[in-house]
Amino acid sequence: MGWTKPIEWVRDGDCFRSTNHSFSTCGYPMMQRDGHGHGIARHILKHRLGELPPSVQARHTCDHKWCIRPDHIISGTNAENMKDKIGRIVYRRGESHGNAKLSDQNVTEIQHLLSLGEKSQSKIAILFGIDRTMVSRIKRGVHRRQPKMLSSPQYINQQ
Ligand SMILES: [Zn+2]
Repeated sequence: MGWTKPIEWVRDGDCFRSTNHSFSTCGYPMMQRDGHGHGIARHILKHRLGELPPSVQARHTCDHKWCIRPDHIISGTNAENMKDKIGRIVYRRGESHGNAKLSDQNVTEIQHLLSLGEKSQSKIAILFGIDRTMVSRIKRGVHRRQPKMLSSPQYINQQ
């Protein structure tokens, strides 16, 4: 497997940012191959580890999903990725009081969707790109204070 087009990048802090690739709607840098878009992070991981089962995903140790620095990309499961995401959302909420990825308006929207009862918690979670447990917490009204979720040492250190 080779690169169809060389990846050009610039340093951005400690990370590498691609300058000649587009990004997916989720913010991941993508490459075109066989007429399909492939995540560059996953491609880098495959390059290192060989063929990956679908359950294995690329994760970023630096938390920058746009980053393509190979040693910032590690393998993980979907569940681990979700845990990262939840950790980030909760951490940012705690730190910035409202400038979190999940805005107060998002929370209101989620509460509204829950009250309608037409969509399952899992569906709502997918719509907002969060874990179902987060939806469940919003339903119970305890999404604002969850120190228990800060299980990853890197978040604890930043406090
Ligand atoms: Zn990085």
